[in-house]
Amino acid sequence: MKKQYTAEDFHTLPLTGLTGALCKIMDIPAPKQSQGVLEELCSFVDSKTDGKGVDRILMFNPDAIGTYTYRKYSAKFDAVKQYAPFELNMLTVFPPKTPVCFGSMYTGASPEVHGIQHYEKPVIRIDTIFDAMIRAGKKPCIVAVKNSSMAKIFLERDMDYYIEDYDNEAVTRALSLIKEDKYDLICVYNQEFDDVMHRSHPDSMRSQKAIDHYSLSMSLLGEAVKTYWQNHNTLIGYAPDHGTHREWYLLGQHGKNIPKDMNITHFYGVIPKTQNSKN
Ligand SMILES: [Zn+2]
Repeated sequence: MKKQYTAEDFHTLPLTGLTGALCKIMDIPAPKQSQGVLEELCSFVDSKTDGKGVDRILMFNPDAIGTYTYRKYSAKFDAVKQYAPFELNMLTVFPPKTPVCFGSMYTGASPEVHGIQHYEKPVIRIDTIFDAMIRAGKKPCIVAVKNSSMAKIFLERDMDYYIEDYDNEAVTRALSLIKEDKYDLICVYNQEFDDVMHRSHPDSMRSQKAIDHYSLSMSLLGEAVKTYWQNHNTLIGYAPDHGTHREWYLLGQHGKNIPKDMNITHFYGVIPKTQNSKN
């Protein structure tokens, strides 16, 4: 029997508003096709920075953590919330496939506009948050696992890409980049939950372990920002692309217009400049 969903089952804040908000809190113009601004995120940042905004953004992008997974395993997110306590329930874009969703997350445009509407990984040709940052004189970089969407769809910009073997290597790289203290925006992509969920299902033991690994990575990144970015106001985000579901009693998957796949929860926090820093 096919379950019928109503509008109330779906989140309403659009993922396409994220890039507009990230640019607004950095006080730079948004990419050209970006649709709107998630004012909820801007208000949160304003409240934490006396309206000054931030000058650094650290985005952790753990693949495939939907609101369903967060609610079911909420205790596993304590470490995430320690650094990023502000929860934003959002609706991802359709179809909820990795390159489609990250395409919208970092262009602010719908899939029809950025051009990725299936599971394919071409370089996106429209304006992105990375282009907007570069135009504004900021230094962005992407740290991603080889062959992943995040390692491919934003290539060919005048910026640095760190393509690593797997999640641990990506996090290790990101920790050293935070210590170098030279990038204004770092996006760090991890994929273990998506990988193991497709081979088992979203509630398998291995999937549950992957949630823990994502949380551990988030706390390592948060600690590094606290230690090495004391001269900056930093927004730190735990920002997944889409959720997942189990098809009957078979494997985990995603790609349907159902709440488990479409509803996502992002977590954000501001790690402020320390009082006694000189600039
Ligand atoms: Zn994904």
